[in-house]
Amino acid sequence: MNSVPREGGMAQKKQWMVFFDFDNTVTSSDILDNIISRFASGEEWQKYEDAWVEGKIGSRECLEKQLRELRVTREALSEYLESIMFDPFFGKLLKLLRSTGIQFMIVSDSFSFVIKEILRHNGIRGVKVYANELKFKKDEISPSFPLINPDCLRCAHCKRQHVLEHKDKTTVYVGDGLSDVCPAQYTDLVFAKAKLKEFFQGNKKPFMEFKDLKDVYGFFEDLEPLKVKSGKRQARS
Ligand SMILES: [Mg+2]
Ligand SMILES: [Zn+2]
Repeated sequence: MNSVPREGGMAQKKQWMVFFDFDNTVTSSDILDNIISRFASGEEWQKYEDAWVEGKIGSRECLEKQLRELRVTREALSEYLESIMFDPFFGKLLKLLRSTGIQFMIVSDSFSFVIKEILRHNGIRGVKVYANELKFKKDEISPSFPLINPDCLRCAHCKRQHVLEHKDKTTVYVGDGLSDVCPAQYTDLVFAKAKLKEFFQGNKKPFMEFKDLKDVYGFFEDLEPLKVKSGKRQARS
């Protein structure tokens, strides 16, 4: 890992806040993509996905069009989500953060229902989740986007607002994708992989690479102030 903390007086900020993306960060695949390809009634969704990747349409338009094609009931979707496992280090990492008084939240451009179901199935409780919302009507789904930002055309749920709300803290972003580009540019530290990593590399911005949450766990475990606070300071040679 090339660890390059940013400038900005991190030392003076006592509180920390960690923002976790969900798909491909906490989970090992893109769950929303999987749902769309599994339950779509046709092939049109791929066209919208391509247009979004190319930056021709924003997330909101893309998701609205893709979800219109889905045919799945609330019960069937919940059952499908039962099988989703996530990074085994996520639970450990949350335990470590909680024990050291570090705050965290999940910020996702997926949907609260999907994320909360997966957390519940994996026995994770009490995590703040900010995401888009779903309404079910028999086997049809309609999305809503209460966290849209009129100043940002790229995002459906503009995660940047949460980062800016916590600027008095040392902020850390953990993510992988295009929807993380907007918020991750405003945090003090960034853990990035895949598309997010490419963005930071391409723009010569500092970040820490991670393969899975074990790397993020290692970072927080090694953080000296945390060891002091959690009473785990070890003798150093
Ligand atoms: Mg992601
Ligand atoms: Zn945004």
